[in-house]
This record gives sequence, structure tokens and C-alpha cells, in this order.
Amino acid sequence: MKVLLAFFALFAAALGRETFEGHQVIRIVPKNEVHLSLIKSLEDMIEFEMDIWRGVTVVSSPVDIRVPSHTQKHVKRYLDSMDLEYSIMIEDLQALLDKEQEEMDSGARFAEPRSTDSYDYSTYHSISDIYNFQDMLVAENPNLVSKIVIGHSYQGRPLNVLKFSTGGTNRPAIWIDTGIHSREWVTQASGTWFAKKIVSDYGRDPALTAILDKMDIFLEIVTNPDGYYFSHTSNRMWRKTRKPNPGSSCIGVDPNRNWDSGFGAPGASNNPCSETYRGPSPHSESEVKSIVDFVKSHGNIKAFISIHAYSQMLLYPFGYTMTPAKDKAELHKLAQKAITDLASLYGTRYRYGSIIETIYQASGSTVDWTYEQGIKYSYTFELRDTGRYGFLLPAKQIIPTAQETWLALMAIMDHTSKNPY
Ligand SMILES: [Zn+2]
Repeated sequence: MKVLLAFFALFAAALGRETFEGHQVIRIVPKNEVHLSLIKSLEDMIEFEMDIWRGVTVVSSPVDIRVPSHTQKHVKRYLDSMDLEYSIMIEDLQALLDKEQEEMDSGARFAEPRSTDSYDYSTYHSISDIYNFQDMLVAENPNLVSKIVIGHSYQGRPLNVLKFSTGGTNRPAIWIDTGIHSREWVTQASGTWFAKKIVSDYGRDPALTAILDKMDIFLEIVTNPDGYYFSHTSNRMWRKTRKPNPGSSCIGVDPNRNWDSGFGAPGASNNPCSETYRGPSPHSESEVKSIVDFVKSHGNIKAFISIHAYSQMLLYPFGYTMTPAKDKAELHKLAQKAITDLASLYGTRYRYGSIIETIYQASGSTVDWTYEQGIKYSYTFELRDTGRYGFLLPAKQIIPTAQETWLALMAIMDHTSKNPY
């Protein structure tokens, strides 16, 4: 096993893949308001080269931070000096990455799937695997599924959207996207599972059948394809797009801060090197602009669900302002129903509420924009887990995660179809 791991490490190095040897993910749990502001100020200390996995929210809600090996001593000394207690969630990130890669490679030994029935839903897949999956699904279900290319990524990859429709023209619709942050791999994997679930359940599950007899479902699985490709080939921790920033050596924009809703307000960064860089202007990223154009030209989208990981939350607008959404009461009640259904399967517990009240101020985010476009049922999920593995959720949790999330999606879609507006 050791030899095998050494071999993988060598292979990764030969490909120019970034390694994370000795990187740790540490957790700090703020106990009071002073802790909150101290931890918040850590975000600006670029000399520590930290990567915030789970940001500062409220007292007693954990903050998870990846710290490279060469700054660990300094970071820990700083935390001690501030009297901030921390624990180590992930001792050596590279060990987890090696394990994940090993599982993917052993899965890849099997022949390429010839149909979506033989596709392995319990492993993480490359972008070409997922694109092949989409084409197979369309070929197998020509009367239910079609593929729309809504645009192209910065590097020219197609932005594929699966359309599930039983007929009609421009029916009211539900939009679901996964993977706008590329490193959140359980989301693209769940999206693939959802696609198969829809074709399997149509005509069998009365609730989904009733929805699809009235509405269309649009599903974008790989919403940030350049980032996803890069997260497989070069840097597993890549979150942003891959467009270069003029005048900076840092690449990419946070596509969940790039929307024209509170753009430029606090809750996003104007520094191209930040993981929450909002970009030079609203909709500067083609991955975002393509959805904007699609939503506007469609004009009849009634629910918009954007799926992230991790921290187990179901959120609704707003993120950029404390002003409550005018449908807050209904959104809150529906969120509660959705997370209750989700928990009924494996007991997975979610928090829920508006973005700004539940996590933190985030400006220019997807669902604030969709809500302001008049799409009442706008929601964001943060899937499993709560930090044990963070973005490196073991592949054996993909199917359970997708299954439980599906119950919450059904709750939202069902409510949307029964409450036309
Ligand atoms: Zn995300």
C-alpha cells in the first residue's frame, strides 16, 4: 500500500498536481463576540496563506481553516497569543487526497459504462465521464431529456444543461445547479444521481410524475467546468473560475459573488487573490452570464436551487442585506419542511434560514439575484458534512447524500408546483 501511495504521489507530481502534504484543517469555535472579530481578522492575514473552508458566522458555530505546513507554527502561535482554542479536524490533507485518488483510480479500472444503468454513482468522476453520462441519458430517454448548451466557459467548455420535459411550450420550470464552486465534488456527483433519479421516477413516483406533467426541470451539473477540470488535474482545492485577472498573478473569480445583486457590497472581496473575489463587474464570468441570459430569456422559472457543500444548511435570500425577503415566512416554513424530510432518511441534521442570518453577509450571490428577478422559491443548499471531511467527503457518502437531498428537493418542487404564482 505504501509503495502504491508513493507511486500515486510521484504520478501526481509528474502531472504538476499541487500537493497538500502536511496541510491541516483546524477548527476554531468562537465563544464570544471578541473571538468572532479576532477570527474574522484572520481572514485578512494573507501572510498565513490560509484557506477558509467554513467562515465565521455566529458564536459557537465552528470555523474551519486549511493551514499549509510552513505557516502552521506561526498560525498556532498567533492563536495561542489571542487565547483562541483550536482543534485539528484533518491532520494531513494529502493523506485524504491520496485515498480519494486511489478510490477513483480503482473505480476507473472498470470498463467505461455503456449506459446510465452501469454508471458508478458511488464514485467521483472526471468532467468527461459526466459529459458522457449526460449524452447517454439523453440518448436513452429522448422523449423526456434533452441537452441544451447555454454558453461556454472561459476555456471554451460547453455549459450543458439537461432539460426534463414531458411537453408543452415554455412551461413553468424548476432550475437546479450543482458545482458552481468546483471543489465541492459531492454536489456534481449528487447532480448526476438526481438526473438518473428523475428518469427512473417519472411514471413511477406519483409526486414527481405530477410535477413533470406540469413543469420542466433544468439541471446544470457541472456549472463551473474549467474549475472542475482543474480540481481534478491540478489543484483539488480549486473553487473559483479559471479566468485570469489583468494585473494580477491570481486566477479566477468566485462565481457565487459575481451576480448583480448587492454586487460590491460587503460580503465579497475586491482582491483577485481572494477566494471570494467578486470579479471586475457583475456577470463578468461567462459561467454566470450564461445562466443570467437563460433565466431572463426563459422568463418562467418558478424555483431556483443552487447546490453547494459543506455544512448542512438550507438557505434563502437575502445574503447581502438584513432586509427580510418579502416571502420570508413562506420560504422559512418550506425550508423547515424540506430539512425535516431530508432528516427522515438518515437523521442528517440541517440548519436553515436566510443567508445573512444563518451564515454571514455574502453579496452578489446566485439566489439573491434570482429572487430579485421574481423567482420566489430561491434556495441554496450546503450539503454534507459538518467538517469531519469537509470538501473531501468520502465517495461512499455520495449516494446517501444524494438520496436525502432528493427528499428536500422534492418538498420544494412539490410546493412550487402546487402554489403557482
Ligand atoms: Zn460553495
